[in-house]
Amino acid sequence: MRLNPNDRFAKHPTPIERHPPPSSSSSSSFRGPGAMVGKGKSEGSESRPTSSSASASSTSTSASTFEYEFGGPIGAFLTLISLPIIILLLTHWTSKGGIFWGDIIDLLVGPPSPSYSSTVTKSSSSSFKTRFAYFLCPACDDHDEPMIELMKCALVVLSWFIFQVILERVLPCELVEGAPLPRHQGGEGEESTRRLTYRINGHLAFWITLLLLDVGWPSWTDLTRTVLTFGRAPLTWLCDRYAMLAFVTIVYAIFLSTYLYAKSFVRDDINDEGEGGKSAGPLLAAGGNSGNHVYDYFMGRELNPRSLGGTFDWKEFCELRPGLIGWMVLNMAMLMRQRERLGYVTGSMMLVNIFQGAYVWDALYQERAILTTMDITTDGFGYMLVFGDLAWVPFTYSLQARYLVDHDPLLSWPALAAIVAVNATGYLIFRGANGQKDAFRRDPDSAEVSHLTYLRTKRGTRLLTSGWWGLARKINYTGDWIMGLSWCMLCGFDSVVPYFYAIYFAILLVHRSVRDDHMCREKYGDDWDKYRSIVPYRFIPGII
Ligand code: NDP
Repeated sequence: MRLNPNDRFAKHPTPIERHPPPSSSSSSSFRGPGAMVGKGKSEGSESRPTSSSASASSTSTSASTFEYEFGGPIGAFLTLISLPIIILLLTHWTSKGGIFWGDIIDLLVGPPSPSYSSTVTKSSSSSFKTRFAYFLCPACDDHDEPMIELMKCALVVLSWFIFQVILERVLPCELVEGAPLPRHQGGEGEESTRRLTYRINGHLAFWITLLLLDVGWPSWTDLTRTVLTFGRAPLTWLCDRYAMLAFVTIVYAIFLSTYLYAKSFVRDDINDEGEGGKSAGPLLAAGGNSGNHVYDYFMGRELNPRSLGGTFDWKEFCELRPGLIGWMVLNMAMLMRQRERLGYVTGSMMLVNIFQGAYVWDALYQERAILTTMDITTDGFGYMLVFGDLAWVPFTYSLQARYLVDHDPLLSWPALAAIVAVNATGYLIFRGANGQKDAFRRDPDSAEVSHLTYLRTKRGTRLLTSGWWGLARKINYTGDWIMGLSWCMLCGFDSVVPYFYAIYFAILLVHRSVRDDHMCREKYGDDWDKYRSIVPYRFIPGII
């Protein structure tokens, strides 16, 4: 059965309007750790089933010819195992304010160590299961059964996810078409004329969520439960169970990845709309169709998994909503906990909430821009992205706020002012460069960008050679990293743990730039070399 995209949405009760597809690449995109590793070569490889996709009905490329990324199946497996461990250690250590290796030994073998004493008094005589639960929640009261806390966290995370799905379903939305899909049945390098339609209402979901958490949280005022009032949500609960929430989110990410992987083998005429109206099975991502289960599970086999009659796009939803908005909510929880402890909110905590809240808002405000990113158009939706979107982003990007709850360096106002200047510089570059490219890709003759010089390529598109993009080829990454650095600086210099973001993000962006450079070389050929000779620097003009 084929549903016309227009018919699908016409059936939906929410007010909708149609909009043209986004015309440029993303101004902001969120990737998990997968973005920093792996793809040294582009999707244009001969060994792949198509330039960027394959259909389920086509056979998987043989393992001997498949162009593996990420160190192949072994590398994928090791990454799959190690990333959850990294998150759990970071969330635990951030709560404690530093790196305590002894905690790992205490967790594994049980005996007390001085660095872990608060937890050990509660759990030294207990089983590994209970020790692990206390490791995840050092603040759990003695009388609290840690396993019950774990169940509560599982319920909270699930409810959060479902709440965001409901918002996506019921809020008014714009219908925006994505980039043309790769041809379903192969055809080297060809694109089909078919595009998926996306429900864009993330920005509204952002504000509704904020409103609900700030003033709309329902509670009973009396024991008989007759009077319902609304106020601020008790977010501090999240702060005490930070690592535990990360753990259950990781478990959910594994479940979701497994479901999506299994789904990619099922021919689903309702959700998979094929070329000419006939479904030939799910559209697969070329990079996740090697035939090796571990590798494909990790990379993501299906390109755009959809449910609910093909109207709910798992990837687009997860890229921007539960994890990204969840990151901001975690930051708010940390702010409330600090105010509860100290009686006031420090400058660092306030600024980290403002800076990162603005970053999240910006991504949701520009939601349609994500539709032309590699994440949406090329990468399959598997463990790498599911885990990155749902677990990695909220729980490693919020480390600074968690650190500040108990270890605020109480920076002087001149120090804070200097950090604001660093952030503003980063934002100016990030938004300026992304906005300029966005405007140029939308309409190169618009007044905003018509004064800029460009290189006309054989491929048809033009490459900017002045303005921000004349300074360095990845100047937007530089701005993004500078902003990230300013977030870390708000935590002072006593511990390296809050600086994890700046370190990880630098690796991610360097790797991503190499990957994009390689892809552009394939896309543009000699023109890309010419562009590189006009704009020789990658990140910092005159230096690197
Ligand atoms: P870019 O926005 O840099 O887009 C790269 C594409 O832009 C190229 O493939 C090319 O595509 C086009 N392009 C390159 N040079 C030029 C030029 N001179 N003129 C016109 N077009 C050009 O990459 P991303 O999508 O990776 O990043 C977008 C933003 O998201 C960045 O600011 C980045 O920092 C941020 N980001 C954030 C992450 C996070 O976790 N916080 C993770 C990853 C990214 P074409 O020519 O085909 O249009």
